[in-house]
Amino acid sequence: MKKTKELRSILCTVLLTGVLAGCPGAGDAPTEPAATSSQKASDEMVAPAGKLGENVVPTKYDIELTVDPSKASFSGNVSIDVRIKEPTSTLWLHGKELDVSEVYLTDSDSRRIDASYEERLDSGVALLTLEQTAAAGAASIHFAYTAAFNTSANALFKVERDGRDYAVTQFEPIAARNVFPGFDEPGFKVPFELALVTRAADVAITTTPEASVESVGENTVRHVFETTRPLPTYLIAFAVGPYDVVDFGMIPANSVRDREVALRGIAAHGQGEKLTYALKNTDGILSVLEEYFGTPYPYKKLDLIAMPESFGGAMENVGAITYDEYLILMDDDSPLSQRRRYTTVHAHEMGHMWFGNLVTPAWWNDIWLNESFATWIMNKAANGYWPEGEFDRETLKGALGAMSNDSLAAARQIREPIDHNDKISGAFDGITYQKGGGVLAMLERYVGEARFQGGIRLHMDRHKDGTATAQDFISSVAEGSDRTEIEGAFKSFIEQAGVPLMSVSMNCVDGESPSLEVRQTRYAPLGSSIEPDSGKWQVPFCIAFVDGAERKSGCTLITEREQTVELDATSCPSGIMPNADGAGYYRFALDEAGWQALVENAADLAAAEALVLADSLDAAFRADRVSASTYVSGLAALVNHVSWDVSDAATTHLENIANIIDSNKLHAVEQALQKIVKPRFETLAGETGSGNELLQQRMQRFLIVIAKDQAMREPLAGQAALRLGLHGDPDPTAAPADELETIFSIGVQDLGQPFFDLLFEEALNSQDPAFRNAAIGALARVEDPALVERLQAAVLEGDFKGTEMLGIVFRQMIRANTTELTYAWIRKNDTAIIDRIPETFRSSIVPAFGSAFCSVDRADEWQDFIVSHADSLPGYQRSLAQATERVRLCAALRKASADELVTAFAAY
Ligand SMILES: [Zn+2]
Repeated sequence: MKKTKELRSILCTVLLTGVLAGCPGAGDAPTEPAATSSQKASDEMVAPAGKLGENVVPTKYDIELTVDPSKASFSGNVSIDVRIKEPTSTLWLHGKELDVSEVYLTDSDSRRIDASYEERLDSGVALLTLEQTAAAGAASIHFAYTAAFNTSANALFKVERDGRDYAVTQFEPIAARNVFPGFDEPGFKVPFELALVTRAADVAITTTPEASVESVGENTVRHVFETTRPLPTYLIAFAVGPYDVVDFGMIPANSVRDREVALRGIAAHGQGEKLTYALKNTDGILSVLEEYFGTPYPYKKLDLIAMPESFGGAMENVGAITYDEYLILMDDDSPLSQRRRYTTVHAHEMGHMWFGNLVTPAWWNDIWLNESFATWIMNKAANGYWPEGEFDRETLKGALGAMSNDSLAAARQIREPIDHNDKISGAFDGITYQKGGGVLAMLERYVGEARFQGGIRLHMDRHKDGTATAQDFISSVAEGSDRTEIEGAFKSFIEQAGVPLMSVSMNCVDGESPSLEVRQTRYAPLGSSIEPDSGKWQVPFCIAFVDGAERKSGCTLITEREQTVELDATSCPSGIMPNADGAGYYRFALDEAGWQALVENAADLAAAEALVLADSLDAAFRADRVSASTYVSGLAALVNHVSWDVSDAATTHLENIANIIDSNKLHAVEQALQKIVKPRFETLAGETGSGNELLQQRMQRFLIVIAKDQAMREPLAGQAALRLGLHGDPDPTAAPADELETIFSIGVQDLGQPFFDLLFEEALNSQDPAFRNAAIGALARVEDPALVERLQAAVLEGDFKGTEMLGIVFRQMIRANTTELTYAWIRKNDTAIIDRIPETFRSSIVPAFGSAFCSVDRADEWQDFIVSHADSLPGYQRSLAQATERVRLCAALRKASADELVTAFAAY
């Protein structure tokens, strides 16, 4: 799944800005005792909060659901074939908020044994108590039940839109248990037979093609679907309702696949025509993936479902991928940023068809591998399909972004034990997706692209239709690439948190060949409680340097705390790049002269190396390891780099570091920011269809919003008024689609209530996801206290969808002008606000709101506030620890370095 930047970095979803079975050993914490081996039911039995145990395991599901989205509830008849190891009269399984009317087990002696069903844990762990002891061997459990539809974009949820009712599912990680009883763990991969009883006019979609449909009553039909390949519960999906279905015909056979694949698009009524762009580009992206894996798309058909309500990203359900509308409804003229997002998210979800779906993590502690792999291959596939899009540095940029979180003492390791249901959602974060992607890219570079691919293919071949652990993957890559030494390196990066900091100094002695002294520690910013010597990795360390006129590079595995690296140089190199090609997941540190030498040559660095320079330089300033003047001049040089994304990264560092400066000292800094960024912005005039177009949009926003360029700001309010028709008919040509959010933001801030009210109405009435996103993003930037109050009231009244309201509250919190107003509102309306936030986001996002502050007092207050709501936020601890740590680090940096930074900007 994949999330928006990455609000929902929780499921295998991709969205806002911006998961593993019986794998004993390998760092798993022990689960509760295997209650299934117990011979009698008793109240003393401890419900297993983690794995269910292995005494009773499923072998097949037969599920019939009656789904009418116009009703408040649905009903199910489910038979689960199981294998019982030891005779038992009790068994644990998953079921949540199911109203079970009938349950019995038929054992291997063909006896019907009546049973009782009781849900014991809020996380959906249920106890089945049999009236007699069931024999060992094959058995079958039968359930009849009803359950309420979910209404907050999780499990089986219903959405009413324009008077029509839709139902659709989102199961990952553990919401299948809200829809049918079962063994809701990824390690249990078995075939499913599904049937849906629906209204006659409704469309019914699931994992496999429809096998038959028959009338079973007035206006009621029964759809029967083909049996699935072995699948875990979390990958099952279905949709029922008056959807538009766009039959796009067959994806033709190709050099890898000798059969056709049926392709369709599914969207809410009236939205179908907007699916063409996504459908016509699917074959191309899928073919790149098939060529990489060397095996065909594993399933018979592919449906792309535009969800009638945002759930925060996309989800790789087998044969029926679901997407937020923004990610899939568009055309050739839609904003470049939206088409890029479609390309990577679509590649991510289709990449999961092999990695995650065909080969599935054995338990949730290895969900990181699913997501790391999908993140890594999505950029590779996107780049293969759309080379001009320059997606080849996206994995690196994602990894550099993850280093911010990974620099915290409260950072989590990529692979960590999951011993409780409450911890599963927390396994979907930036560390899982972005750091993991970066670590895979580092290993690929170290062993070589072709050898790494060999390892991936071996892995797919060994484990298809089954499950695999991280150790299985590491073994496949090590054997497939014939580089067994990478096992230790790989483990050192996935089994400990933190960013390696490689401190490098050059050794040039006359008469001896030059060498580097390299010392590795764990990166720790100013004010951090991290002990630098607490981390030690096996780092694939690649350096580049200039020897005379020749660029040379080489890689070595750094395994010791301190190590000498000999350089193949004839004389002392004039400069070194300690992360050649930006391929390594680490930061580097130099002495002041070393930084200055790199900064002076920044323009000549390849884009990937310039990106790691920007990151390491920024990290050095935050750790008090480089002067403010060298830092500022370095970022200024990188703003002027020819590559759009280097320039963008440097501009973003400028924006972030400006946050530590007190508002009364900002004026001089704003002038300097304009001087640094504007010349580069002016070189971008008229750019279309490329990264430079994106850079232009981002720099425009930076110059207006951060650097406070009034001359640039003024025309935009006029454009906003014209585009929306504030004083006449709306003029759709008055503002480019790509710039709508910036333009509307200016309108919201400068044109008062009439504009705010009009935009509010247009946003809520819009069916165009790009427009709606831009409009709501702009509303979230309102600053006038009276209008902020109107926005807050609308949030509480439920005018916005769940993910939309999250985006609004988050933006209002992180923007300095509205932080305190929003904080006061949150304190006053705490319970109402938390209740409005979709359940799947609460525990991770609510604590993160507090990261907007920059004072120790506020960190303490926020800590107390969240802890006082602990009951509503199960599993909140990590998110809270990270948020308050960020606040304390910000306060420490402000105290130590803000004045020096102001002076450096003023001198610029
Ligand atoms: Zn994913």
